[in-house]
Amino acid sequence: MMKIGVLALQGDFAEHVNILKRLKVEPVEVRLPQQLKDLQGLIIPGGESTTIGKLAGDFGLLEPLREFGRQHAIWGTCAGAIFLSKDVRRDQPILGLMDILVQRNAFGRQVDSFEADLIIPELKNSPRSEIPFHAIFIRAPIIEKVEADARVLAALPDKRIVAAQQGHFLATSFHPELTNDTRFHEYFLSLVD
Ligand code: GLN
Repeated sequence: MMKIGVLALQGDFAEHVNILKRLKVEPVEVRLPQQLKDLQGLIIPGGESTTIGKLAGDFGLLEPLREFGRQHAIWGTCAGAIFLSKDVRRDQPILGLMDILVQRNAFGRQVDSFEADLIIPELKNSPRSEIPFHAIFIRAPIIEKVEADARVLAALPDKRIVAAQQGHFLATSFHPELTNDTRFHEYFLSLVD
């Protein structure tokens, strides 16, 4: 059975755990460096990126997570994507693993939260490929720029980037764990070796 960690310091890690169970993967809640042992990949949930970063520092997880990312797949959703990125243009603890520039809370107050149907070509191998992915955005960041060999997986109709991939790293501005659609989780599992 595949073992996938979910960083469980703060945020909506329980929803990711539930989806992993549905996909017959063994989820492991990660709060301490030694819990990364034997995992094949890691999900960093949504929440508050400054809090996740601070707690990761307090629990001695920053360097172990960077080390883990050199070998293994990591997916960050929303705050997790911010934490995974290499640049948020402000001073807060981040992993700096993925070559994306992220802008936090990019949608302003009026549209703090919204939903959008996205066409994501990478999900094409799934049996429901013709159905758009219903994406839930909550005080979401946008990915301003993908750099190096990072590439865009999904954008809004106005072209703002909301999902990206770089090798075994995945970042989404939205929250697939808050839907019943498991396709994004399945796609992440396909990046795990
Ligand atoms: N606004 C949060 C942050 O900047 C992210 C929100 C979320 O994860 N839903 O960290």
